[in-house]
Amino acid sequence: MRIPLIPLVSGVLASLLFAAPATAGVLERSGPAPTGKSVQTGNPIYKSGKFEIKACEEQPIRPDDLDAARVYLEFVVDCLNTSWRDQMAKARLPFSKPRFATTSRTGVPTGCGKFPKGAQAVYCPLNKKITFLLDPGILSQATELFLFEVIAHEYGHHVQQLSGIMGAFNGRKYGNQKVYLAEVRKIELQAECLSGAFIGSVWRSLNRVESDFTYVVEAAYDTASHGSSKNIAHWLRRGFNAESPSACNTFTAPASKVA
Ligand SMILES: [Zn+2]
Repeated sequence: MRIPLIPLVSGVLASLLFAAPATAGVLERSGPAPTGKSVQTGNPIYKSGKFEIKACEEQPIRPDDLDAARVYLEFVVDCLNTSWRDQMAKARLPFSKPRFATTSRTGVPTGCGKFPKGAQAVYCPLNKKITFLLDPGILSQATELFLFEVIAHEYGHHVQQLSGIMGAFNGRKYGNQKVYLAEVRKIELQAECLSGAFIGSVWRSLNRVESDFTYVVEAAYDTASHGSSKNIAHWLRRGFNAESPSACNTFTAPASKVA
């Protein structure tokens, strides 16, 4: 049995979501993100069907090698771009690639403030940029599926931004912290599910064994913003099994599943 390193695990799923206002005036080439009352509960992304079967070959990776990890992540982002571009087209939603950067330390600018301590990666909806922390903790476990899962999760936030789901979240006022966190969890658990759906769709090309996925699923832990470890595992597996965003409607799920 592999014992996860505590400092790494405590950061893995703590990719923070920023409550930033929706970007105004910047239109994607293929159109702005949809808006409207049912943009979260009835988004076209849920009817986009399964991902097309695609290969996503992982690049060689070894522990404690920053350059290899950077290249590895860039290739995974390419895979995500290809798969999601097609998926968004099927849903007739606008698409543009996210910006992507790595950093070896926290505190650097992300477009949504400084990179926070305790986070593994950040998506900023204002500049549509993913910033990924490659520090010694995660580099020591670079061969695990964590890098893959976390980047696919952050990309899930980008998909939420493109599809209007994030804009609806950021455009609302929340009466208190409890109400706010309940909505954050729907966003975060959906990003987990979207990550799982992508991973499931390319799984056969990854040359991984099932325990690699189980290891990541079981590394989840409870937080008020990302949900209980049980629910994180639930949504990650649900997406993985469905290989489709259709499994990822956390906005119509029972409260117990988004706790
Ligand atoms: Zn997140």
